[in-house]
Parts: sequence; structure tokens; C-alpha cells
Amino acid sequence: MSDEYNFCNRCGERLAQKRIEGRMRHHCPACGHVVFLDPKVAAVVLVIDGDGLVMVKRGVEPQCGKWAFPSGYVDRGEIVEAAAVREVKEETGLDVTLDRLIGVYSLESNPVVLVVYSARITGGAVEAGHDALAVKTFALDALPSLPFPHDAQILRDWQACSDRI
Ligand SMILES: [Zn+2]
Repeated sequence: MSDEYNFCNRCGERLAQKRIEGRMRHHCPACGHVVFLDPKVAAVVLVIDGDGLVMVKRGVEPQCGKWAFPSGYVDRGEIVEAAAVREVKEETGLDVTLDRLIGVYSLESNPVVLVVYSARITGGAVEAGHDALAVKTFALDALPSLPFPHDAQILRDWQACSDRI
């Protein structure tokens, strides 16, 4: 578990850990406060460009320097679909309309939950954003090696649904 939860944010006492409701959690021995950690939500977008997909060469960790789908964290209070469109604009310069939800992906013991959409380009011009090194459209049969654990499944799920249209 993260070391950033050392002290109780209610009474200032040093936190301890014990198993509560099935997981190891930080709790406060003085006031009984239990820290329930929330997941982090990220939006991922498969931006369809002709017969290919728009990929971003990541300028930030994790997987800096690797080509990946446009993605980013959803702000608390932000509509997930709006975050998806915003991240595409920030990273690629492109305006998109979301096509549909491809799926929701998570891993045991990983705080990040991915919400993945496909989208179509409606405007804008390609320009790599501040956390992207480059932006490029790859043909489906010439995609670069994909860096994240769910990428292959996401592609399969997207293509499985695309075939039925
Ligand atoms: Zn406390």
C-alpha cells in the first residue's frame, strides 16, 4: 500500500494497517477512521482515421516514448465522456465525437480503471500536445507494439463489435 497515508487526516494520529472488509487498509487507532482508497479513472480513446487509428507517442511515464492510444485521467466531478474528448484534443489537436463505449478494464491490485471509447474525427488539426512527443495514424495491420496490459484485449473487443456493424 502507498506510504502517503501515514497520519490520520481527522486527528493526526499515526495510522496503522489491518484487514478491514476483506483488504489491508490504513486505519486510525485513536479515532477509528478508516482510509478507503478510491480507484483512479482514466479515459482511453481509439480515434478512427480512415482505415487506421491515431496513436500518441507518450511524453510522460509510464511507458514514455511508446506509442499508445490517446488517454488521460478523468478529473473528479468531470463527465467521463467529456474527459475522453478533452484528452484527445489535448494530446492530438483533433476534435472527436465519441462513437461508442468499447469496455471498462481493470486489474487486481491496480488502482486504475480504464473506460475505453472509439471515436471519429470531426475537426481540428494534428498537433502533439504537451505530454505527447508525436501523433501519427497507423494502419490497423501495422500498429506499433502496444505498451499497456489491456491494449490487445481492447483492440479485440473493438474489432469484434466493428465487425457486426
Ligand atoms: Zn484519527
